[in-house]
Amino acid sequence: MRVLIIGAGIGGLVTALRLHRLGIDCDVLEQGSAAGEPGVGINLLPHAVAELADLGLLDALDETAVRTTDLAYHHRLGQEIVRRPCGIDAGFAHPQLSIHRGRLRGVLLRAVIDRLGDGAVRAGNRVVGFEQDEGGVRARLVDRADEPAGELLGDVLVAADGIHSTVREILFPGEGPPRWNGVQMWRGATEWPAFRGGRSMVIAGGTAAKLALYPIGRGATPDTVLMNWAICLLTGRDGDPPPRRQDWSRPAAPGVALQHAERFHVPGIDHAALVAATEEILEFPMCDRDPLPSWSHGRVTLLGDAAHPMYPMGSNGAGQAILDAAALGSQLRSHDDPVAALLAYQDERLPATADVVLRNRTGGPEGVIDEVERRAPEGFDRRQDVLDDDELDAVLSGYAQATGALRARADNAPDAP
Ligand SMILES: Cc1cc2nc3c(=O)[nH]c(=O)nc-3n(C[C@H](O)[C@H](O)[C@H](O)COP(=O)(O)OP(=O)(O)OC[C@H]3O[C@@H](n4cnc5c(N)ncnc54)[C@H](O)[C@@H]3O)c2cc1C
Repeated sequence: MRVLIIGAGIGGLVTALRLHRLGIDCDVLEQGSAAGEPGVGINLLPHAVAELADLGLLDALDETAVRTTDLAYHHRLGQEIVRRPCGIDAGFAHPQLSIHRGRLRGVLLRAVIDRLGDGAVRAGNRVVGFEQDEGGVRARLVDRADEPAGELLGDVLVAADGIHSTVREILFPGEGPPRWNGVQMWRGATEWPAFRGGRSMVIAGGTAAKLALYPIGRGATPDTVLMNWAICLLTGRDGDPPPRRQDWSRPAAPGVALQHAERFHVPGIDHAALVAATEEILEFPMCDRDPLPSWSHGRVTLLGDAAHPMYPMGSNGAGQAILDAAALGSQLRSHDDPVAALLAYQDERLPATADVVLRNRTGGPEGVIDEVERRAPEGFDRRQDVLDDDELDAVLSGYAQATGALRARADNAPDAP
């Protein structure tokens, strides 16, 4: 069995490591450069970290990531709605990791090269089409100059080629561009004094106007961290065409994020100064796509953002790609027929991820902030008077259950997630 993987993002690289671990040969085809670590911070929840730990990556991740201890949701005006422990502090067997997305990709890429060899990731090769028959699948490539660069033959083609997936477009030609919800995101990271113990995450405000803060690495001194921030703001209408194509490294015009920072208040940190001190600010339109009726078409399937791009609520996009890789590996391992394996993978993962995509459209777990702000736009004295504990738990536990987060809990974990 030889698997061709399109895309050396988080999804494609974890798939390569998982397949290699199961004794399945694979090649990774990447249109861009294999090197380079674009992006800012992301969070990996314990169910995703469990998979990476199983691949022997936890020590390397620990060298660069922060083990997040708690997450607080705040009203935009500063009051705390709820604060909950995360990762090991919440009784999971594995930590929650806040990490620079590019450094995470670097850890994965080095592991792929160490284990699969120098030639495993073929950079500068864009897949532009494929043909399949009973004997296999053939991927057509072009080089950086868009000149034909030959074909590659495999038994299975896994398209982990992101939200603008070429393979998805071939399989579903009428689908059109990603769907924008009107929210623009500005993100950056810079050295900053640690706050709340240096391992805490804060999300202040709901879908229409949100500030997220969390450290993603050590700073130059024991009292500083590499602090990640994101400001999200409704600037367009749900369903409008996205203002710009989503890209992991698109720089934002200076000053735009700063002018929006004033809307928020988070006790204990001068986030406007943090934004002002950040040298490189990236911008992203908040995009997803409707869930598909199918991913697996004969010997070809979709994985990660190519299959289920979702709004970044609840820290789940990359995590779900990591779970896809595990499911794909075990289905390929347990079926002799690759077509049957891909259908079993689709049955396992498509309904589960479609549920997460749709939940994220209503804020995912952060929907509790939206609800509190809707009921108490000017703030509150006691959160329980606005949203009681049962209502709050129903949203948070329902989301955790749907995303597979609870399956990573340790046997001795307390009841509440
Ligand atoms: C602002 C923001 C914050 C996020 N925060 C989190 C978070 O906290 N936690 C979390 O789990 N997730 C988060 N996510 C989601 C997460 O980043 C994505 O789900 C994840 O990176 C998707 O990985 P992927 O490998 O599927 O796709 P990508 O990372 O997009 O990788 C696709 C790769 O395929 C290559 N490619 C594309 N087309 C071709 C082609 N035709 N031929 C060859 N190569 C090709 C691309 O160059 C790229 O390298 C966030 C997303 C955003 C936008």
